[in-house]
Amino acid sequence: MVLAQLGGSISRAIQQMSNATIIDEKALNDCLNEITRALLQADVQFKLVRDMQTNIKKIVNLDDLAAGHNKRKIIQQAIFNELCKMLDPGKPSFTPKKGKPSVVMFVGLQGSGKTTTCTKYAYYHQKKGWKPALVCADTFRAGAFDQLKQNATKAKIPFYGSYTESDPVKIAVDGVDRFKKENCDLIIVDTSGRHKQEAALFEEMRQVSEATKPDLVIFVMDSSIGQAAFDQAQAFKQSVAVGAVIVTKMDGHAKGGGALSAVAATKSPVIFIGTGEHMDEFEVFDVKPFVSRLLGMGDWSGFMDKIHEVVPMDQQPELLQKLSEGNFTLRIMYEQFQNLLKMGPIGQVFSMLPGFSAELMPKELDSSNPKLMNESRMMRIARGSGRHVREVMEMLEEYKRLAKIWSKMKGLKIPKKGEMSALSRNMNA
Ligand code: GDP
Repeated sequence: MVLAQLGGSISRAIQQMSNATIIDEKALNDCLNEITRALLQADVQFKLVRDMQTNIKKIVNLDDLAAGHNKRKIIQQAIFNELCKMLDPGKPSFTPKKGKPSVVMFVGLQGSGKTTTCTKYAYYHQKKGWKPALVCADTFRAGAFDQLKQNATKAKIPFYGSYTESDPVKIAVDGVDRFKKENCDLIIVDTSGRHKQEAALFEEMRQVSEATKPDLVIFVMDSSIGQAAFDQAQAFKQSVAVGAVIVTKMDGHAKGGGALSAVAATKSPVIFIGTGEHMDEFEVFDVKPFVSRLLGMGDWSGFMDKIHEVVPMDQQPELLQKLSEGNFTLRIMYEQFQNLLKMGPIGQVFSMLPGFSAELMPKELDSSNPKLMNESRMMRIARGSGRHVREVMEMLEEYKRLAKIWSKMKGLKIPKKGEMSALSRNMNA
């Protein structure tokens, strides 16, 4: 992801400032100028960048900071907060609830990735226990129904559409009615792609919205349009009640930073980002963990979510055997990470994982005694892996948390495939 370059540049600027012997006006200005350059290169709006610089300078008033204040930390924190503020316009207008029927309508320009994203969104929720369904109300683009059908079939998600009916409003209403009767709790309506100049298609979108009364309208946008995202998001918002945005193709474009910040400037919350063509290349967009990862600070909660998503526990009999003996070691945790790297979309996972595992010694890896990891060992690991001691401590905290959960498995019967729900109940008890 080219955004990683942006993150790298900002982190380097912060690092250089941290390494300066004295934190004075010059060190702060050099750091902020570097960050400004990096943000502008990533196509973030000039005004946003300028505001961010001004705000940081206001917060970090070096003259007023008494000696002894950790200026480096204060500056780092201010940069982090301002980056978060820049990307955070608040919550979506509606969040679907499991078990209660919701209608979610997708709108966007043709080619933005709307149809692909509908399936990703459905698949994501299906994995979390929802009962989604897909309705193709795109009668404009030849082959749209076939594409949705193909994707839906692959993901085993029920779908509805028509080769003969040409009225998208009728298809949408019929599809929504049908899936409501079938007790689907997330009914996703894909509409025709359109351009902001295409008045007729905008009118059609309004009619579909009026007829199906969606609980949430999601605007899908291709990140490669960069700052033009602002105008597009604005145009769609003026026609239908856009409640959330999904930004696609964040895997390949330098303008990702521009698109994200431009959408945020329209006060539209981004809820997911698309990071590839595959069904699982789709991530929840949460500002703080995103900025954390952007700056190479790791994102443990996202990482653990990913583990649960791509490594179903009931497919790992050997692991379960070890765990049932009450022996959760750092090596097990490390091996699970390795498994994940083999299986998962590697880029997504790596960006969440601070890279220190190779620095652990066999004795440390195979011990299930957290006390073994004393301060000097932590320092050694941090030095060897080029990570901050805080990150090593976070990893160990996560290990302790997992070890505590797994200790409840000691002596438990090893579940067969499909018996995981019972296991989860035990673990949550
Ligand atoms: P629609 O016309 O808006 O419905 O767009 P499609 O869903 O047909 O997608 C257009 C193209 O973008 C297809 O080739 C998709 O595979 C591709 N695409 C969609 N989302 C992503 C993404 O997040 N990353 C990448 N690299 N490609 C994507």
